[in-house]
Amino acid sequence: MFWKGPVFTKDGFRNRTINLENCEVVEGFDGEEDGIIVPLFRNCHTHLGDTLARDTVPKDLSLEKLVGPGGWKHKWLEKNNIEDSVVAGMKEIISSGTGLILDFREGGKEGLNVFDNIEYPGTAILLGRPKNGEELPGKNAGISSLKDVVNSSDLATAARKKGGLVGIHHSENEREDIDALINLAPDFVVHMCHASDDDLEKVKDAGISVVVCPRSNEYFGNIPPLEKMIDLGMDIGFGTDNGMLCSVNMLEEIRFIREKFSSIGLDSILSIACFGLDDMFNKDGTSTYSNLEQSGWILLSRVEEDEYESVFDTKSEILGVRWRN
Ligand SMILES: [Zn+2]
Repeated sequence: MFWKGPVFTKDGFRNRTINLENCEVVEGFDGEEDGIIVPLFRNCHTHLGDTLARDTVPKDLSLEKLVGPGGWKHKWLEKNNIEDSVVAGMKEIISSGTGLILDFREGGKEGLNVFDNIEYPGTAILLGRPKNGEELPGKNAGISSLKDVVNSSDLATAARKKGGLVGIHHSENEREDIDALINLAPDFVVHMCHASDDDLEKVKDAGISVVVCPRSNEYFGNIPPLEKMIDLGMDIGFGTDNGMLCSVNMLEEIRFIREKFSSIGLDSILSIACFGLDDMFNKDGTSTYSNLEQSGWILLSRVEEDEYESVFDTKSEILGVRWRN
């Protein structure tokens, strides 16, 4: 079996034929196309644990009261079955053709263990956080913020010793101190909605990647400076943030981004969705995440003559997913 059609690459769309048996890719194709083919999406920031809270989120709570320490979300997490909630989120991840997730895992070691029983054909990078002053669970640290977590630098050091990644939320609802962030030297920072141009330049110069979650930000009335990040040539990824606030479907996220950031080219938006955080993953030069030959693909129905317009059109549907991780 083969998929034939325009395949999205780092150099735009190229007509190709993909052999679904062995994933061999050849240039060009004969006969009719099957649709438009894009690499599996990367969702670079999720909190899958609160997916099933989506129908019960109280309206009009501030960011602090909803997701801050001791806030509504954390009470919900204590009272509900987190595994069921993560499974619900993973169903969306899989059905939307997402091949890589970076999930901030609440709940210490138990929170990480939830994934032991979950089968996912893609790659899940789990960033843990300790419960009640324990040590860092797992090898990656997902730090809620410098303000909320007093021992952030200890967690970052512990993650680095284990060869793990460090991610942290910063300047989501108000501008936070940039020098403290640079000193922490995380691998990536999430949000930066209230970062100044100068802050972004410092982050870029420090080799720190950035993840933006525009639908989640919109919920709290924030807008990330995505145009500026792209202008600066930052290493960017898209995330969907809390599962209770919006779906984890990257097509829905990028269609929203297209509406909200009309000056950004569709090629840039699609590239971030498919190849997000490439620099971070390739720091050691050995990553397989950005090797197109080792990625999987999504086949989308063509509904417009222009490939980009078609992908971003809500009428375009996922016809198939070829996993390869
Ligand atoms: Zn988050």
